[in-house]
Amino acid sequence: MNNITRLPVAFTHGQGTWLFDEAGKRYLDALAGFAVSTLGHNHPRLVEAISRQAGRVLHTSNVYRIPLQEELATRLAGLSGMDEVFFCNSGLEANEAAIKLARFYGHKKKGVELPSIIVMEHAFHGRSLATLSASANRKAQAGFEPLVPGFIRVPYGNVDAVRQIASRSRDVVAVMLEVLQGEGGVNTVSDEYVRALRGLCDEHGWLLMVDEVQCGTGRTGKWFGWQHAGARPDVMTLAKGLASGVPIGACLTSGRAAGLFQPGNHGTTFGGNPLACTAALTTLDVIAEEGLMDNAVRIGDAIRAGLSSALEGVAGVVEIRGRGLMIGIELDRPCGELVMRALDAGLLINVTSDKVVRMLPPLIFSDSEAEILVEVLASLIREFLSQ
Ligand code: PLP
Repeated sequence: MNNITRLPVAFTHGQGTWLFDEAGKRYLDALAGFAVSTLGHNHPRLVEAISRQAGRVLHTSNVYRIPLQEELATRLAGLSGMDEVFFCNSGLEANEAAIKLARFYGHKKKGVELPSIIVMEHAFHGRSLATLSASANRKAQAGFEPLVPGFIRVPYGNVDAVRQIASRSRDVVAVMLEVLQGEGGVNTVSDEYVRALRGLCDEHGWLLMVDEVQCGTGRTGKWFGWQHAGARPDVMTLAKGLASGVPIGACLTSGRAAGLFQPGNHGTTFGGNPLACTAALTTLDVIAEEGLMDNAVRIGDAIRAGLSSALEGVAGVVEIRGRGLMIGIELDRPCGELVMRALDAGLLINVTSDKVVRMLPPLIFSDSEAEILVEVLASLIREFLSQ
């Protein structure tokens, strides 16, 4: 189906942070397949772990015990302080589970017949009907109405807007947000804001549901973005970078959100199979052992500082922002064509929300690769803005 505009390139293989096309040209990957290839390409430990597991068993079924899934659940619970995990295969599935869970919580624990979830402007949670409805992208929603009801949208970063909803609606059961928005334009909020939402959720008995699909798994310098604020959510979703390229998703619960789903309430065929869990366990091991979260902070700061100085005083650059290796450059005009220009120059980046150049490099990005990125991208942006 013609559901996506494809760029005219195909990659045959990768090595570290580089991808190679059919003609042998190499590209610096500053996108990591949209925050997926945490360990870059062809990481020897991941290749070895996946190969070994493929020679044992790929898939059994969730009706049987899966020891690797239990090990991964225990590991994620240890890293997050959360209690339970449901494994699936993608970000939207993890968020769909979270949305179902919030409704279930409303029905079972709060006696709310038609539960509502507070969601944010510029949010992106996926493209299934429920997650598309929770997302704020009108363009992506167009043509798929009727949307799923039960979402109340508020401005991102505004605690008072959430407080006002609390004072006039009795049907709210949860607040759902990305603590650092990706698709919406690499938008940041303060740690105080996240803590204030935690406080409001506690005050009103709501679930705080944090979508860490893009910003989680070490990308911002902590295992999970909410850890910067020290405000543990009741529900957290993960996907993308968790298994560094093998499809996986996870919905974790703690506190009042734990213990809700019982046999028959939710399910999946593939979710949490031995192959995906091996890939995720290896990804987490390598992040910890190779110090990749510190690297994300150091290299991310270096890229932002390098871009700030290279683009200082350039008219048309609105803001350079982000955290760790989630980086955005907002321009004052639509700049989608920069993606193709960068591709020609051997650099993989993305533009989101029309005007924001986005980078999501693998967590193994090096100093010299950061320098190349800054140099190539700054010159492309200067040229683009001067036309
Ligand atoms: N949530 C966030 C924050 C995302 O960035 C994305 C994808 O970009 C999703 C959910 C959806 O994930 P998936 O494409 O794996 O369904």
